Amino acid sequence: MRIRRLKLSGFKSFVEPAELRIEPGLTGVVGPNGCGKSNLLEAIRWVMGESSPKSMRGGGMEDVIFAGTANRPQRAFAEVVLQAETAPRDDGVREELEVVRRIERGAGSAYRVNGRDVRAKDVALIFADAATGAHSPALVSQGRIAAVIAAKPAERRQMLEEAAGIAGLHVRRKDAEQK
Ligand code: ATP
Ligand code: MG
Repeated sequence: MRIRRLKLSGFKSFVEPAELRIEPGLTGVVGPNGCGKSNLLEAIRWVMGESSPKSMRGGGMEDVIFAGTANRPQRAFAEVVLQAETAPRDDGVREELEVVRRIERGAGSAYRVNGRDVRAKDVALIFADAATGAHSPALVSQGRIAAVIAAKPAERRQMLEEAAGIAGLHVRRKDAEQK
C-alpha cells in the first residue's frame, strides 16, 4: 500500500485545513521543535485506528482536537483523511482507498472508507492485511529505533508479524474464538 495524500483539519496543532502529498519512497519530516512533526505521524496512526490515548501523547481521545490558544478558540472536531493506493492486484491494478476518521467533542469518533461508514475494526483489518497500520514499523517516530533495540523478544515478534502482514490473522482468530 502507498500513502499518497494526507488531509488534516482541527487535528492537534493543524488547526487550519492542511494537505500533504506523499511521494513513493522514504519520506522524512524535518522542521523546528514544536512545528508539528510528531503530530503528523500521530495523525497517520490515528486515521489507521489508533485507540490508545497514551501513544497519541494525550490524556483522552478528544485531546487530538485543536485545544485553542490565547487568540484562537478551540475546534469542535478533528478530521484526518488518508488517501492511498492498495498494493497491485494480480492484474497489476492499484485500487484507490480513502479512509476518513472524524471525532467531535462529546460525540466520539467515526470512520468512513471510500464514502461508507465502517467500524474501527474494519479499518484496522484493512491496514493489518496490507502489512501496515498504526503500529507499523514503516512509521518511524522519535525514539522508535531505541525502542526496537530494547524490545523484549515477544514485542520484537509482534513487530515482525506486523511487517509480514499476518497481524490481521490474530485479530480474526480472537474474533472467531469469541463467537
Ligand atoms: P520536536 O522537534 O520537539 O519533537 P515536533 O515537531 O515533533 O517537535 P509536535 O510535538 O508534533 O512537534 O507538536 C507540538 C505542538 O503541538 C505543541 O506546540 C503543542 O502545543 C501542539 N499541540 C498538541 N496537541 C494540541 C492540541 N490538541 N491543540 C493545540 N495544539 C496542540
Ligand atoms: Mg517530535
